[in-house]
Formats: sequence, C-alpha cells, structure tokens
Amino acid sequence: MKIATKISEVRAQVREWKMQGLTVGLVPTMGYLHEGHASLVRKSVSMCDRTVASVFVNPTQFGPNEDLDTYPRDFDHDCALLEKEGCDMVFHPDPSEMYPEGFCTYVENLSDMPKTLCGKTRPIHFRGVCTVVSKLFHIVTPDKAFFGQKDAQQLAIVRRMVADLSFGIEIVGCPIVREEDGLAKSSRNTYLSPEERKAALVLSKAVFLGQKMIREGQKDADAIVAAQRELIMKEPLARIDYVSAVDGSTLEPVKEVKKDVLFAMAVYIGKTRLIDNFSVEA
Ligand code: AMP
Repeated sequence: MKIATKISEVRAQVREWKMQGLTVGLVPTMGYLHEGHASLVRKSVSMCDRTVASVFVNPTQFGPNEDLDTYPRDFDHDCALLEKEGCDMVFHPDPSEMYPEGFCTYVENLSDMPKTLCGKTRPIHFRGVCTVVSKLFHIVTPDKAFFGQKDAQQLAIVRRMVADLSFGIEIVGCPIVREEDGLAKSSRNTYLSPEERKAALVLSKAVFLGQKMIREGQKDADAIVAAQRELIMKEPLARIDYVSAVDGSTLEPVKEVKKDVLFAMAVYIGKTRLIDNFSVEA
C-alpha cells in the first residue's frame, strides 16, 4: 500500500491508474480506524479496481471548544488495517498541505440542512466537512466515494453537494457497524470510562426501541421520538442533545413514519457526545 502525504503524489498515482482504465474508490476518514471504517474500505474494494483512503483530522470541521487536539490518532494501526482490507493508497496530509497559508475559500450548503440536528451545537461543522470532502474529490477524482450511514446528516449533505456542484461521483452509503452489545462503533468511544461505556448503550437501545415500535405498526413519528427520549432520560449519565425524526434527504422535520424517514439522536455521555440513528426501510 502506497502512503502519500502530498497532493501531487496522489494525483500522479491516480493518473496512472486512470490511464490503465481502472476505476477508483475513495473512503474519507479521520483515522483511528475501526471495523466501521473497514466495512467502507471492503465495500470500495469490492466495487472499484483501486481504493484510496484518506486519514486526515480536518481542523475546519471542529469548533473552538471541540476535541481537535485530543482526537485519537494512531496512524501505524490505521495503515495496518487499511493494508489488510486491500486498500491501495492512503492519503495522510499535513494540515498545511490541505490548508495553505491564506486559505479562504469554503464550500457551504446555505439551506437549513447544516443548521438542524448536529448543526445546532456544531454550527461550522458541515462547512468544514463540505470543504474538505470537495478538496478530496478534486484531489483523488474518484468514481465512487463511500460514507457511513452512522453520520446520516453528513451523508445527506454530501449527496446534496455532489448533486448541486455536479461532481459526477457516485456516493455509496454503508450501514452502521455496531459492537456486539449494540453500541455504534466510533473513534470517540475511546473517550468513555467503563461506567460511561455501559451508559452509552442507551443510544442503541433507543434505536432498537424505535425500530421495534415501527415493526409493531406505530406511524406517529413524535410518539417514537417521545419514547426514545423517555428511555434515554432514565440513564443518569446521559444528557440529550437532540432526538429527532426528519426526512432522510432534506432533513426537514416529519410527523408520519414512512420510507426514508431518519430517526437521529445525539446524546452526551459524561463529556462525550455520541450519535446514532436509523432509517425507515419500507
Ligand atoms: P470518521 O473517521 O469518524 O470521520 O468516519 C469516516 C467514515 O466512516 C464516515 O463516512 C463515517 O460515517 C464512517 N463510519 C464511522 N463509524 C462508522 C460505523 N460504526 N459504521 C459505519 N460507518 C462508520
């Protein structure tokens, strides 16, 4: 597996692949990789001739009081995981490579999509995401790019951006990978103390409760959200940021349960903010 730290190295390698008629998949990540990331890489390897993963803790998507400096990093472990999954190149730039001095051009969705859900507490987050993902798309010029449903708001906003700006890249959404006990895998789970790790199960329990209510015929989205909130509030270490039902594409609030409605939540467990969600399938 090739390790590239410079944009020019990525471009040269991708040019070579394209001259051979090979297709390229991109898996953007912030590193500290786990089985959730691995599932994206596997999907790309299965659908594309070559796979590029990026490992970059993107400073522009972190707010001033967020965990940019403490975000977990282990590049050697990341490389070992990527190589094992059949990744062909990892792009691991310095922040100065991505954001040269004088950087002042951003990509921003001007609708309410980045203002709702996580955007309420993270007002600049999706501007940073759209900007870095645009840059990665320009650098790697992939045929397909792979994103987790775990970050459902990010996935919806990236899909919107790709349509609006005519990137001509297929966005492939991949299912949430969970720990055996249900907790959605996340690099941030490492922040949890053993006691918090147990308490964090309220998120997946709330997801499973919502899914069960729908299987049993509940059509009122508010009733599901209310039941999820009630369950989460019983956990003393949990503090709800939001629990919402929205349209999975537009992220506008919905009242009725139907296909593609997204039930999403963010919950603080101690100081750690965790997210989880599910989409209505049929
Ligand atoms: P991150 O490194 O947290 O920025 O995540 C990089 C990509 O991996 C994003 O598209 C995430 O949605 C995806 N991802 C993170 N955790 C999971 C998971 N548990 N299951 C599936 N995809 C995930």
